Amino acid sequence: MIETKELLIQGGLFVTSEKRWTGDLLIQDGKIARLGQNIKPSTSCRTIPAKGFEVLPGGIDPHTHLLPPFVDDYFTGSRAALAGGITTIGCMVYGKEGEGLLAVLQQQEKLLQEMAIADMFFHPYVWNSLDKAQRELEDLQKIGQSSIKIFLLVEDFEKNKQAYQSLIQEASRLGLITLAHCEDACLLEKACQDLEAINHTSLQYYAYSRPVESEVKAVEDALEMARQTNSKIYLVHISSQKALDVCLRARNQGVQVFVETRPIYLYFTKERYLQKDGPLYVGQPPLRQKEDTEALWDALKKGHIDTLGSDHAPWKEEQKMNPDLNIRDLRPGVSDLQTMLPVFYSEGVLKNRISLEQFVALTSTNAAKIFGFFPQKGTIAEGADADLVLWNPSEKRTLHKEDLLSASDFSLHENWEIQGWPQMTIRRGEIVYENKKLLGVKGTGKWLKKASSRL
Ligand SMILES: [Zn+2]
Repeated sequence: MIETKELLIQGGLFVTSEKRWTGDLLIQDGKIARLGQNIKPSTSCRTIPAKGFEVLPGGIDPHTHLLPPFVDDYFTGSRAALAGGITTIGCMVYGKEGEGLLAVLQQQEKLLQEMAIADMFFHPYVWNSLDKAQRELEDLQKIGQSSIKIFLLVEDFEKNKQAYQSLIQEASRLGLITLAHCEDACLLEKACQDLEAINHTSLQYYAYSRPVESEVKAVEDALEMARQTNSKIYLVHISSQKALDVCLRARNQGVQVFVETRPIYLYFTKERYLQKDGPLYVGQPPLRQKEDTEALWDALKKGHIDTLGSDHAPWKEEQKMNPDLNIRDLRPGVSDLQTMLPVFYSEGVLKNRISLEQFVALTSTNAAKIFGFFPQKGTIAEGADADLVLWNPSEKRTLHKEDLLSASDFSLHENWEIQGWPQMTIRRGEIVYENKKLLGVKGTGKWLKKASSRL
């Protein structure tokens, strides 16, 4: 951490979700104090020449897992995020059976104060005691909480549909958005039984154990609940063209649905599971077909998808490749906090699939808006938090797992040639990463709450 209260970024190409311009930016006390041309530095000010760099709002990854059993924590997760241009992390959190949502959030605050460098917000799981959770929503609202998370793949979803619907409605009434994992338990069970009947239980058959139909069915259920209650809903990691189509139709009919997709669905298809290292690619939902990948890119370009969430859920390679794993007993997820933005830039912006402004919208601005942190986060404006990334658009690196700061020890992008990397990451005015070196200090991350988002 460099103890400079003032920083002047000179001559960079600044980019928001709306526009780009060349100029200077002055940071004072963690905030963007001034935008302009030829701003004169004061004597105590560090000047950062930014000609040739793109200066982007710090990335916001709305979807990560940094609690056990995953191998990263708030420190190693922060470190990977900052090296990858992400200054704010949204993390899925949960407690023990019977523990209240507020208690879970308070535990996270403690962990964050000890370990985080990036700023964080949390999505607490509601996976049992729905009534109890619903009674807690008002308290959550009071502390500025912006979301809760539900799973449609729980076995008792059908039985408790009414309670889920009531939960979503009450959350929405209080200004909290519900995140939903959409896969249908019955259809998953049926697919698994069919595979077991013919002895196809190894992870080679993983894609068939979680068919597109199960995603579609659960998306329909989630959207129906949102429609009935006139509530906002946020669907995590949409992976297929069919599920996406259902979302877009509902949106056209007035349902307030936000769609997140996940990088693995943009770069890989289900044939990967046939390779020797296939188990490394296991995530929930599974990889799909080429048509799905194309549909997702098309939707990103058209602005139909709101956010890109890494769903960073890191394991060690050995854990993922454990030969005892099968279609029912598996370790879903991969590490992607450090790689999500550079790979998306390289594959998306530089291959003209999306514009630079869309890149910013998908990886920062939209999440800030959806979760209530805009314009404190997610943009470059006077008064906003100085969360910025000096992006080097021409730097090429071949990705090697040794360079990754996550506690995970492999990357699905190993040996990829990636162009466009963060040169410097600034979080609330502090240079926390520069020249491939982590400078940020453990325990300096803050819990981001809606109440503090007003400028
Ligand atoms: Zn997840």
